[in-house]
Amino acid sequence: SGSTVGFVGLGNMGGHMARNLIKKGHSLIVYDNVPASVEALKADGATVAASPKEVASQTNLIVSMLPASQHVLEVYTGSSGILSSVQKGSLLIDSSTIDPSVSQQMAEESSKAGATFVDAPVSGGVNAARDAGLTFMVGGPEDAFAKAKEVLDKMGKNVVHCGPVGTGQAAKICNNMLLAISMIGTSETMNLGMKLGLDPKLLAKILNMSSGRCWSSEVYNPVPGVLEGVPSSNDYKGGFGTALMTKDLGLAQNAATATKAPTPLGSLAHQIYRIMTNSGYAGKDFSSAFQFLQEQANQ
Ligand code: NAD
Repeated sequence: SGSTVGFVGLGNMGGHMARNLIKKGHSLIVYDNVPASVEALKADGATVAASPKEVASQTNLIVSMLPASQHVLEVYTGSSGILSSVQKGSLLIDSSTIDPSVSQQMAEESSKAGATFVDAPVSGGVNAARDAGLTFMVGGPEDAFAKAKEVLDKMGKNVVHCGPVGTGQAAKICNNMLLAISMIGTSETMNLGMKLGLDPKLLAKILNMSSGRCWSSEVYNPVPGVLEGVPSSNDYKGGFGTALMTKDLGLAQNAATATKAPTPLGSLAHQIYRIMTNSGYAGKDFSSAFQFLQEQANQ
């Protein structure tokens, strides 16, 4: 600990993750293309760089937390990207959820520059990011995993080696397909129960002591007022955006097509989140599936 870590992408997740590294004694050099996100980290003691290139010229250990594949391509291989100035022997850890083939491509490009790239997408949500309670799913060589684990341990409670580069993404895409299905299922169940006259807090309590219990019902309930400190109780602000969930479900559908795995509920979940994204829900937390279904039911 104490070493300098570069951090690119300081949004809902990355901001908390970078802050935890500062708390645990690292010097941080950060970059985000939204000035407000950078300012918050600067106030917490981070040094601000003018580009990913500048980050890479100042440290050989970098974490990135970006929305989607195209942002990762730009941050790594763009004209002022990390790989334009990366130091030999650097470890590059990408925690974004992206297409596994893009992770593999980034690993190849990094290796040409003498650096090692691992994919390390996360599960847990913004509260787990804040509390250093994330689960990291890591794809990469064994020695790079061991080195990455030292820094990921400071932001998470589970750091799991999945196999070669891209397998972290594979695990993450599977998890999020199940999460989307369970969130829609929890939302339609809660809405039905409320229409039957049940108090939502009581219904949630019963589900959570019964066989319908899941993370979406217990930890991240989509009905406003059932839980405190979750996006549903804050007008679906913050959290995990519906557009990002739609992206992840698209990655799962690509993977299902490539492997010929049948995923009927994953496919339906993708379409429901696509409609939400195109109907004004893009920036709301993905638990707004409840609000979306409630609006349909009230028409
Ligand atoms: P976000 O949109 O809140 O944050 C992304 C950040 O990246 C933003 O600050 C944005 O300005 C920055 N960015 C975009 N393009 C950039 C560029 N070219 N250079 C520098 N910065 C750039 O997203 P998030 O919720 O923090 O999610 C990040 C990733 O983690 C996504 O892949 C998401 O699917 C995944 N994820 C999110 C959650 C969650 O609960 N929010 C949970 C698990 C995984």
